[in-house]
Amino acid sequence: MSSEKNVSSVNFIRNIIDADLGAGKYAARHWSGQPGPGPQQCAGRVDPAPVRTRFPPEPNGYLHFGHAKSICLNFGLARDYGGRCHLRFDDTNPEKEEDEYVRSIIAAVRWLGFSWDEGGEDNLYYASDYFDWMIEFAETLIRTGHAYVDSQSAEEMRRSRGTLTEPGLASPFRERSAEENLALFRAMQAGEYPDGAHVLRAKIDMAAPNLNLRDPAIFRIRHAHHHRTGDRFCVYPMYTFAHPIEDALENITHSICTLEFEDQRPFYDWLLERLAESGLLQRPLPQQIEFSRLNLTYVVLSKRKLIQLIEERRVAGWDDPRLPTLAGARRRGYPPEGFHLFAERIGVSKSDSLIDISILEECMRETLNERAERRIAVLDPLRLIISNYPEGQTELCQAPNHPLKPELGKRDIPFSRELWIEREDFMETPPKGYHRLYPGNRARLRYGYVVECTGCVKDENGNVTAVLCEYLPDSRSGTPGADNYKVKGNLHWVSAAHACAAEVRLYDRLFAVPAPGARREGDPEGIERDFLDDINPDSLSLITAQLEPSLSEAAHGASFQFERHGYFAADAVDSRPGAPVFNRTVTLKDSWGKGGK
Ligand code: ATP
Ligand code: MG
Repeated sequence: MSSEKNVSSVNFIRNIIDADLGAGKYAARHWSGQPGPGPQQCAGRVDPAPVRTRFPPEPNGYLHFGHAKSICLNFGLARDYGGRCHLRFDDTNPEKEEDEYVRSIIAAVRWLGFSWDEGGEDNLYYASDYFDWMIEFAETLIRTGHAYVDSQSAEEMRRSRGTLTEPGLASPFRERSAEENLALFRAMQAGEYPDGAHVLRAKIDMAAPNLNLRDPAIFRIRHAHHHRTGDRFCVYPMYTFAHPIEDALENITHSICTLEFEDQRPFYDWLLERLAESGLLQRPLPQQIEFSRLNLTYVVLSKRKLIQLIEERRVAGWDDPRLPTLAGARRRGYPPEGFHLFAERIGVSKSDSLIDISILEECMRETLNERAERRIAVLDPLRLIISNYPEGQTELCQAPNHPLKPELGKRDIPFSRELWIEREDFMETPPKGYHRLYPGNRARLRYGYVVECTGCVKDENGNVTAVLCEYLPDSRSGTPGADNYKVKGNLHWVSAAHACAAEVRLYDRLFAVPAPGARREGDPEGIERDFLDDINPDSLSLITAQLEPSLSEAAHGASFQFERHGYFAADAVDSRPGAPVFNRTVTLKDSWGKGGK
């Protein structure tokens, strides 16, 4: 994606905000310091925040990479305009919502580096705290003739809704008096009816071309326990009614949501207008702006599908490093700044697009390259014996912690007679162009000496169990004679006597195809693919690696570049001092589909 495109695409929301600020549209709004209806806000001082945005997750799952895009956008706009971004739990649906999800969402937003409690405000809210206002607002709509209780069955309501080409039919209950509606709605609240017996509907226009304006339901009966309000309510607001009110109560200026809600905008505006007319809300009202959601190849970004992967034990849990959840990303070692870079790079637009996961991976790689210290790890160890190096002797070699940042210094790595090298760095009969170890060839042991291969040792099956070599004592890196030896191979190694054995988890893509669950050429007609059929069976392999000794005490979550391999993070759950466990975050280069792993 060109950077030019990014700049203009980011601008479509910024342009709206710039124009609003230029016109002073929201400048006279008041803010009481707390969410509330218009009269409460008007009694407060002028809102110190020129813009207010919000990130409104439903606490029914862990956050995924799509949410990261929305978080970076909403919190980023508030930061750039000196405004505020609220974290609001949209918990108006009593089923499926849990405190565990609330905690995980708080942790994920903080991890991404954003805060909602700055400038003397603490803008963490729960939509369920607004239920009383929502009921009061609904009753006002009833009194002003803008809502009625419908007693048709769900099936009858569906049938009378009409289609895109035919108008809907008015419910036989549409002309109930305000008194009757109010009495019925109160009885609904009092728990006098079972689920589905009645619903409260907005009274708009059954012939509206936009089906969302054909008297949408706004409150329904639901005898269910809510994670915060318990059994206090048995009527719950519909999302499309609740959301605009939440925005208005919180003084939100720009309510940014994904494109699916574009057709809901007329109802959003209709509802807030009616409530403002009745003096319940302060003007100017919040405005809804839609952008296209993030779609990424090789992952599923839907809580429903993520829950299925977990419940069916296809992955280890919400923080499985293969999942596109922020908890998984953190455990895998993706840095939060990598998400910021990614959000900036893909930009924001109104057209649907599918982003290649390699763009995300490249953002992680670039961020880690900047900051991760270098370390040495041998992932597929083979013993190298230096026959002319004295037994029992050890010397220290110096390796830079970061080639681009000399200020990070160097560390000592012990060198001795027996080392671990990568199995692929030796070949008995190499092809042309192979510059590593083979009998008669010389290669440099990085930060150490040049060695010449003299042969190898094999077991009874002919497998190579050790490589033999001799070192050139005057070739030590950093000493005056070192440059006299011109060799092409430059190998990494760890001293066998000092190495720390560690479990390393090599993660790969969880799905083997770019669009899990999508139809593929040649699929039989009428057969739906299941996204679970597209799982990559090789998405995790466990190996025992040999690490340089300084890694044995790696702090939980610490990220390193293992030279020649990629970026790895110490696992935050299973790693122990002296027995580290590392997760591969991302390889050094994009190797998907190229035979590499
Ligand atoms: P899911 O479909 O995975 O359940 P959701 O949209 O229902 O996602 P919410 O908790 O309602 O999840 O989302 C909170 C916010 O995150 C919403 O404002 C929504 O627009 C945004 N969001 C969710 N998914 C994406 C995505 N893929 N790309 C961008 N923003 C997203
Ligand atoms: Mg949702």
